[in-house]
Amino acid sequence: MHKVAAELTSLLGSEQVLWEPEHLATYGFDGTPVLYSEAGCVVLPKTTAEVVQVVRYAAQNKVPVVARGSGTGLSGGSVPVEGCIVLCLAQMDRVLELDLKNLTIHVESGVITQKIAELADEAGLLYPPDPGSMKISTIGGNVAENSGGLRGLKYGVTRNYVMGLEVVLANGEIAFFGNKCVKDVAGYSMKDVFIGSEGTLGIITQVLLRLVPKPQTKKTLLATFSQMDAAAETVSAIIAAKIIPCTLEFLDRITVKCVEEYAHLGLPLNAEAILLMETDGHPSVVDAEAAQMAEIARTHGAMAVQLAGSAEEATQLATARRAAFSALARVSPTTILEDATVPRSELANMIRFIQQTAARYELTVGTFGHFGDGNLHPTFLTNEKNTDEMGRVEKAMTEIFDQAVKLGGTITGEHGVGLAKKSFLPKAIGDSSLQLMRQLKRSWDPDNVLNPHKIFD
Ligand SMILES: Cc1cc2nc3c(=O)[nH]c(=O)nc-3n(C[C@H](O)[C@H](O)[C@H](O)COP(=O)(O)OP(=O)(O)OC[C@H]3O[C@@H](n4cnc5c(N)ncnc54)[C@H](O)[C@@H]3O)c2cc1C
Repeated sequence: MHKVAAELTSLLGSEQVLWEPEHLATYGFDGTPVLYSEAGCVVLPKTTAEVVQVVRYAAQNKVPVVARGSGTGLSGGSVPVEGCIVLCLAQMDRVLELDLKNLTIHVESGVITQKIAELADEAGLLYPPDPGSMKISTIGGNVAENSGGLRGLKYGVTRNYVMGLEVVLANGEIAFFGNKCVKDVAGYSMKDVFIGSEGTLGIITQVLLRLVPKPQTKKTLLATFSQMDAAAETVSAIIAAKIIPCTLEFLDRITVKCVEEYAHLGLPLNAEAILLMETDGHPSVVDAEAAQMAEIARTHGAMAVQLAGSAEEATQLATARRAAFSALARVSPTTILEDATVPRSELANMIRFIQQTAARYELTVGTFGHFGDGNLHPTFLTNEKNTDEMGRVEKAMTEIFDQAVKLGGTITGEHGVGLAKKSFLPKAIGDSSLQLMRQLKRSWDPDNVLNPHKIFD
């Protein structure tokens, strides 16, 4: 047994420390293709006190600690640094309080996001952030990545719902940042520094979240277009009409074809773009907005607009978007789901650029994503064993991220930087931001113990 594993076993007991090769192999990767590395051991704490023990041990012995939730990350954030301790929070999964007076829920960081959504729903409330992985990802991982989902346009992302965080700092101290107050401007907003910090500044052990009243009703529409620009202009016109849909999602031609072959929904294969649109709220407002969105789509040249007449039909229409990733993933051995964001006004330009770049490098790329908030997922259908093709994927990706930044956008709207996007970060945020981030990391984690070499070196 590895020395670190042996010492942690004597601290925590053998059930909570894994070191056998088959376990280390399982924890060697996350949802990001190609990246793999082996930890020295994996620790499964059940309490904050145990997290403190592990972090103190790591600090004293200068052993890197990589926090992990469910390992669904798409930028390599929880991929081990060689020989590190993987600190997997999945067993810290207690719901501590559902407060119906303050509309908050307080949970441990290993709680699965879907469980929070279900508990809120049972209480007539809504926890809006809905990452595609919510059935398996943890809330700690969502906070560490500031994850978003289909409802981001209207309701915002994880950050907009975090009211408080319990964090174990690099020196093993426990801190709680935030409270249940709607207003609090006492000092810096420390919790916000930890949101999106990808495990590099502290280990999140508890999360206090804001819930909102559940909308009374929802309407779902699907519009198909023979031209990308018509779909993009429809989106601009909907927003200009002062409608903020709760969902405004997009699929390109390649994605439509893959979804149709996979789910047989009757989608038109000659469509250049499909928009899934949803509006929620008071029934009279929802009816009016749905009718208005259908009209806007038609006047902008939609080939067809389907309005769901029942909950079953709505689910059927939404399947086109929900199935996009699975449908693309079955086409080739390696699926690289990328994440680039541009201002809404540049969406058509960006999609055209992705398609032209894919053609130039002879690659298959299906693009889908959140049209309402400019967040696109160009998805490379490739084979990691084909080194020539992987070289072309790398070049195409670099050009796509460069173009996103040129258009006033960013290299990631959801998946974070981790290992996968580290090299693109300086161009995206500039020297001053990078310097400040480095200074913060150095002062809070001087020995570089927490998730070293992630986000930046
Ligand atoms: C099919 C699929 C669909 C997805 N859809 C979306 C989507 O719609 N939107 C989106 O934003 N993302 C999406 N993702 C990406 C991913 O699910 C999210 O980033 C998610 O928040 C990761 O949660 P996790 O528990 O799996 O965290 P992990 O993957 O285990 O960790 C992610 C990062 O957070 C850190 N971390 C984890 N837990 C803690 C903690 N308690 N304290 C400190 N740091 C911690 C890790 O070190 C790592 O850097 C998707 C992934 C897949 C596979």
